[in-house]
Amino acid sequence: MARFREENGIDPAAYESAFAAVLRHRNEMRPGKVLHVETEFGAVVHYGKDKQKSKRLTARLDLVMKQAGKVYIIDHKFVYKHSADTMMRYNISGQFLMQTMMGQRIWKDRFGGILIHCLQCIPPFKDSTYPLEPAPAAMATFLPAARRALERMDLLAAENNPAAYRPAFNEQVCLSAYGPCEMYNHCQWLMK
Ligand code: SF4
Repeated sequence: MARFREENGIDPAAYESAFAAVLRHRNEMRPGKVLHVETEFGAVVHYGKDKQKSKRLTARLDLVMKQAGKVYIIDHKFVYKHSADTMMRYNISGQFLMQTMMGQRIWKDRFGGILIHCLQCIPPFKDSTYPLEPAPAAMATFLPAARRALERMDLLAAENNPAAYRPAFNEQVCLSAYGPCEMYNHCQWLMK
């Protein structure tokens, strides 16, 4: 975010104060009861032959609120521009397929779904909250796909040979909003 501010000539103090005002406004306007903030939730996934292996998948939920009798997971997303295209990327994102699965298991029929709290991080600063669209096909496929991925990770870990991993070589995977993959230098310089 700091680099973005520098590149766009945005004064940090003005940025902080405008953004704080947006967040304050949003917190005051949202009715309901806050249940959790930045709390880690987990779901155990059984996989392998006869489902004898298990792993606990975790998610740190930005915000969980009860509104009109339903429980919603609310995720804050910083975006450059509010648009339908921006929101579309989240509908079948594994992050939210998993959070939906967790929400359904934890809160059962009280679970209302995922809301994306979208914060535009360039002037004019603004925010909106959108419900995720249903994705029944992706939901049905998510768990089998996660099980296959876990099995493959176990196999690769047992080989202890990073070169056997199928490299992504993809700018959106190797370098995400959170920084470079921890294997970035290895893939750039050392891969054998
Ligand atoms: S940098 Fe990371 S994500 Fe990219 S190819 Fe290498 S291991 Fe895969």
